[in-house]
Amino acid sequence: VWNSCLQVIKDNIPAQSFKTWFEPVKAVRLEGNVLTIQVPSLFFYEWLEEHYVGILRKTVKKFLGEQGRLEYNIVIEKSSTNVPYTTNLPSTGNGAEAKKQSIPVPVALNKNIKNPFVIPGLKKLQVDPQLNQNYTFDNFIEGECNRLARSAGYAVANKPGGTSFNPLMIYGDVGLGKTHLAQAIGNEIKKNLSDKLVIYVSCEKFCQQFVDSLKNNTINDFVNFYQAMDVIIMDDVHNFAGKEKTQDIFFHIFNHLHQSGKQIILTSDKAPKDLSGLEERLLSRFKWGLSADIQIPDLETRMAILKKKMYSDGIELPDSVVEYVATQIDNSVRELEGAMVSLLAQSTLNKKEIDLNLAKSMLKNFVKNTNKEISMEYIQKLVCEYFEVPVEMVKSKVRKREIVQARQISMYLAKNHTKSSLKSIGNFFGGRDHSTVIYACQTVEDLIETDKKFKTYVQDIQKKLKAS
Ligand code: ADP
Ligand code: MG
Repeated sequence: VWNSCLQVIKDNIPAQSFKTWFEPVKAVRLEGNVLTIQVPSLFFYEWLEEHYVGILRKTVKKFLGEQGRLEYNIVIEKSSTNVPYTTNLPSTGNGAEAKKQSIPVPVALNKNIKNPFVIPGLKKLQVDPQLNQNYTFDNFIEGECNRLARSAGYAVANKPGGTSFNPLMIYGDVGLGKTHLAQAIGNEIKKNLSDKLVIYVSCEKFCQQFVDSLKNNTINDFVNFYQAMDVIIMDDVHNFAGKEKTQDIFFHIFNHLHQSGKQIILTSDKAPKDLSGLEERLLSRFKWGLSADIQIPDLETRMAILKKKMYSDGIELPDSVVEYVATQIDNSVRELEGAMVSLLAQSTLNKKEIDLNLAKSMLKNFVKNTNKEISMEYIQKLVCEYFEVPVEMVKSKVRKREIVQARQISMYLAKNHTKSSLKSIGNFFGGRDHSTVIYACQTVEDLIETDKKFKTYVQDIQKKLKAS
């Protein structure tokens, strides 16, 4: 019967899907009108029920009549002991009640050593956590910009899965320390609780592994591997955007881990509510625990970061130089470090001591936009493009809400990003006087404080402005 079913299913779904989801399934029993099939994991069962229940139901009824039913025999590998046993679950699509029985039946373990997702050994599992040892709490400088994220991370590191910060989502712009902090959590856990299974994986790598395991027919091992972890650190989850199938898989893994009290740590370039291209159900999970952002560090913190870095590299520089570099580079810690490295490299090449003057002359190339002034015209163009309003409206007398908003943001940006006076800003934006400009700036500042969405708008535009 099952073979006949498979024939029908094969003709109705893509070959790759058939290979992945139906070839590993075996028929074990036919009792009356109940067909029992064996699937390699709970995940497989969930997946079949989620994606293929319609076609399964139809074909089973086709061959077993209207009363035909399907039950699953699931091979469950307990991650702690790796002792497999099977359990029975009926197909929900047939409306049957779940039988909560588990029958211990030994099943051969996958012996394929070429497959990277098979966890070897029957006793204690060992997995390389893929962590960079250099990212620790010790060398992660605390500042106002990262206080919440850091302390939540520290709490999680000392009690993985045991806090309400699950998942812990760390978000912020590039180069501000998300990867460092996320890996520091992993390293701290390995230091104190060395038998915990920790895995760090970038979202991109995870997506690639998923594609590979589909190709190699190792999807079950892939999922089992991640579901066996105590702690999963996934970096840059915004890269899930548009990858629906991988999100689907991660959704299952996430649920499994979360239900078993395992710790999930995520990083992203945006807050969960601002992430686009992710499925709603996955996003809603991301919002379950704590989302903590990392902001641009203030001058004092930037200097502390530089000093710590120099100290660990055994380099000494005058404070004035450190302060100068930290003042000039104010958008990313990565760039800050980059500037320092290039400064050191150049001084070695030219065999010159680094003093303030040398720093000044060398960093000139590094600091962007010092000569190129941003024009008000350009700001106007960016803002109008962003809000999709006609450019000429900004200078007009129109009082429509979105036009007023675009006008006020334009003025605010002009005040902060050009050297133009309030008077000339007012003039440019439709011949208004300087008090209108002051009022606009005040309004925008107030809204940034109180309206998160509005703040995101302004930050987005500012990013574009800086990128140009
Ligand atoms: P992101 O993942 O947010 O893009 P990274 O974690 O890769 O940023 O950080 C970029 C660089 O800045 C790394 O070398 C990191 O060690 C350093 N860094 C960022 N924040 C801090 C901090 N608070 N203290 C020390 N180093 C930091
Ligand atoms: Mg990163």
